Amino acid sequence: MTTFLPLLPVREDLYVLYRGPLASCNYDCPYCPFAKRVDPPELLRADRADLERFAGWVEATTDRRLSVLFTPWGEGLTRSWYRETIVRLSHLPHVARVAIQTNLAARTGWLAGADPRVAALWATYHPGQVTRERFLARCRELLGLGIRFSVGVVGLPDHHAEAVALRAALPPEVYLWVNAAEGHVYTSAEEARWTALDPRFGDSVRPHPSLGEPCHAGETAISVLGDGTVRRCHFIKTPIGNLYDGTWRAALQPRPCTNGLCDCHIGYVHLKPLELRDVYADGLLERIPAVWPQPATRP
Ligand code: SF4
Ligand code: SF4
Repeated sequence: MTTFLPLLPVREDLYVLYRGPLASCNYDCPYCPFAKRVDPPELLRADRADLERFAGWVEATTDRRLSVLFTPWGEGLTRSWYRETIVRLSHLPHVARVAIQTNLAARTGWLAGADPRVAALWATYHPGQVTRERFLARCRELLGLGIRFSVGVVGLPDHHAEAVALRAALPPEVYLWVNAAEGHVYTSAEEARWTALDPRFGDSVRPHPSLGEPCHAGETAISVLGDGTVRRCHFIKTPIGNLYDGTWRAALQPRPCTNGLCDCHIGYVHLKPLELRDVYADGLLERIPAVWPQPATRP
């Protein structure tokens, strides 16, 4: 007798980048417009309510395999509602990943309540705002908790020595990325120095010509604002629908890029000709290449 296994529903992947109104930060990075910015209480209340509504949408949207990256203007993990939402979403069976960009200043113990197969961090080291030892202590906490994370730095000349020391102190399994500094043109010698630290620095060092190029953004990746406005990505402001009236569903379709250049990792990872989804696979949102450490860097 032939037995038939029940057919499991195949869920299409949808990558969701979420950015609420929060724009405050505890750090004072000289290269950032949100440095030491303070949000008024009413904005924080609105940010919390928006995030709660978004989490409800994630919970209810079970026909997709969802991967969520929180990309706040400022720092989210100093706010309890981001920590609680990450824990909550990490336990949903249709959520493949929930990650956040963070300066890693806040305590990490709360992550013990999250599913370590799903929760992840994109952590940036900001020399001058925190000591290397303190930042590394946070990294050790994450390793102890079994939480996936990448670590990165902005590739400013002043940061190079710190980045080298950080790379040397981190275990090889932790990927260290380097973002090209905005407005900085790298000589080939500088590019080689940074590439020695991050073999994928070449993706970041020059903006990618993207006009007319096919992009997953708007098809299997979206950008969501606090009020539910859906755009294809953070860099093309035209709305394509709203999360809460269901119009996002009909909006998802293949679209060529309408911008001349794409120069931010959270955008160009979706640019189809670059094939970076193959490079990062399950680590796409927290920026961890699928094959890491690379064979040559294994001890
Ligand atoms: S930690 Fe991030 S958000 Fe905060 S000031 Fe620095 S760059 Fe800006
Ligand atoms: S290439 Fe960049 S700017 Fe263009 S649609 Fe994709 S993510 Fe947006």
